[in-house]
Amino acid sequence: MAKVKIVRYPNPILREKIDHLDEINQDVLDAIWSISTKLPFCNGYALAANQIGIGMPIFGYLENRRHKFLINPVIKESSDDMFFYQEGCLSIPNFYFPIERPNTILVEALNPDGNTVEIEASGLLGRIFQHEIDHLNGKLVIDLLNEEQKQYFEEKRMSLAQSRKVTGKSKPPKPKND
Ligand SMILES: [Zn+2]
Repeated sequence: MAKVKIVRYPNPILREKIDHLDEINQDVLDAIWSISTKLPFCNGYALAANQIGIGMPIFGYLENRRHKFLINPVIKESSDDMFFYQEGCLSIPNFYFPIERPNTILVEALNPDGNTVEIEASGLLGRIFQHEIDHLNGKLVIDLLNEEQKQYFEEKRMSLAQSRKVTGKSKPPKPKND
């Protein structure tokens, strides 16, 4: 099997909205396997299939050190109470963004056995789910920044890319996020 690689911004793959699946076939199980090979490197967080170039509506996450996967996830309800958190993204390494999101959400999805599950997720887990579901809708964490923050990010990103060219440093510091 080909080596699993993280797709990075601004790769257009990250901007595609993924259609829901009708059935869980071998391709889906293969995709789940591929996600699971990268999850241990996501520092306890999560990874969406399109972040490794697979156009399927699946994300994996770690809960109590176990790999879990949700297929066709949809947010059914969001709480009114919000909180800020510094979010990172494996597809946008070396950056953290102050993002405000609802504290609690209700998610409906399929599990890998093909059963419909409803999960209420709060705090960090709720945030991880929202971040990953955004990925599957072609949305990135930078879309939630204001104009000033977006501009600052783009300038920083360009200057980082530039300095990497100048110093010939090809490997950035190891990212530790989702
Ligand atoms: Zn991400």
